[in-house]
Amino acid sequence: MAYEHNQVCFHTLGSDESWTLATYEKDDGYQSWRKVLAGELSPEQIIEEVKASGLRGRGGAGFPTGLKWSFMPRDAEGQKYLVCNSDESEPGTCHDRDLLRYNPHALVEGMAIAAYAMGATVAYNYIRGEFLDEPVPRFEAAVKEAYEAGLLGNDIQGSGIDFDLYTFVGAGAYICGEETALLESLEGKQGRPRFKPPFPANFGLYGKPTTINNTQSLASVPTILRKGAAWFAALGPEGSGGTAIFAVSGHVEKPGNYELPMGIPFKDLLNDICGGVLGGKKLKAVIPGGSSCKVLPAEVIMDCTMDFNSLQQAGSSFGTGAVIVMDEDTCMVKVLRRIARFYMAESCGQCTPCREGTGWLYRMLTRIVEGKGEEADLEKLVDVANKIEGHTICALGDAAAWPVQSFLKHYIHEFEYMVRNNGRSIVDDPSRAAA
Ligand code: SF4
Repeated sequence: MAYEHNQVCFHTLGSDESWTLATYEKDDGYQSWRKVLAGELSPEQIIEEVKASGLRGRGGAGFPTGLKWSFMPRDAEGQKYLVCNSDESEPGTCHDRDLLRYNPHALVEGMAIAAYAMGATVAYNYIRGEFLDEPVPRFEAAVKEAYEAGLLGNDIQGSGIDFDLYTFVGAGAYICGEETALLESLEGKQGRPRFKPPFPANFGLYGKPTTINNTQSLASVPTILRKGAAWFAALGPEGSGGTAIFAVSGHVEKPGNYELPMGIPFKDLLNDICGGVLGGKKLKAVIPGGSSCKVLPAEVIMDCTMDFNSLQQAGSSFGTGAVIVMDEDTCMVKVLRRIARFYMAESCGQCTPCREGTGWLYRMLTRIVEGKGEEADLEKLVDVANKIEGHTICALGDAAAWPVQSFLKHYIHEFEYMVRNNGRSIVDDPSRAAA
């Protein structure tokens, strides 16, 4: 089946210098913002339109964007902030960097509209520290162009609307993608998640009302307002409106970022869009939304559509839309050990189950891979993961636990094989080579 690409976030792709103001405006860019400046769109109308579009946060949690905006006390006295989370660090996820590189004006416009809708006059884009090569300069150049064109600043085009936008480059900690850790970092402190409540909508940046949205979510807003909520919602199935940028990596012929309608069948994404499994091998497993999501075996994911509800019903989640594909020769024990190492290294150390538990998980998995594992370790792995899940300040604890639970649920035979064979992987079994 043929699918239309790049309808919302990447709409300038294919044009020369897709990241410039001239290209963006040629492609109807800043139309929605100009309507706001002309007084044709009220904050209430914008929020209702975004709610009706079905847009859900693309940063992992999938919370409805319009509803989140409605939590901001927009009429309260004093400063309010919008913060964009471009601290993209979830393993497998690499689409926000391309948005910053190839269509940064969509984000600038989306941030301006979102800030206006929530009564915020100042916004920050918190960008991952490793994006200093192209994404940061491209975004900053776009902000500069927008200021020079009179689209940002004070009393913009005589509208009485003020909006200032700043870039902040992080220092490369995964945990700063957690929204309250991001705020701490933005305030110049160590990036550690805050206890909640209070939530950022009431006590955010510098203690002021703040909303944090993901890059892709904000960049979708100008097109939603231009083409209408109904158009956007109809692109995807019930409960998952619009498009998503699928970051497909691993064992596929054509890895990459693909903006496609939500709800595309996984088998079409794999075979029609990405050219199938690398080298024509058999598919073994897929992590559908970044490394913290639960792994799904081939026979399960092949029947899924790529949207929030379908993946949840299958026992995983949409996450960030980062699809990690693994072929039949992948050792699931070694993959899990690699994931566990990441979460151990990135734990901020604030709460005991996460700080200690992630280290336990990694050390037990290392023991198994080195041929020193015991059968009892397999039960202990799940036990430790269960004791982390739901017992921590932020979701990094769950992110560390879910891969362990799901890998052991679906691939326990691979772990048992390795324990019984002194660290040899099932994919290296001699009978397999003979077959
Ligand atoms: Fe820090 Fe982990 Fe606790 Fe999150 S769950 S606050 S990363 S120790």
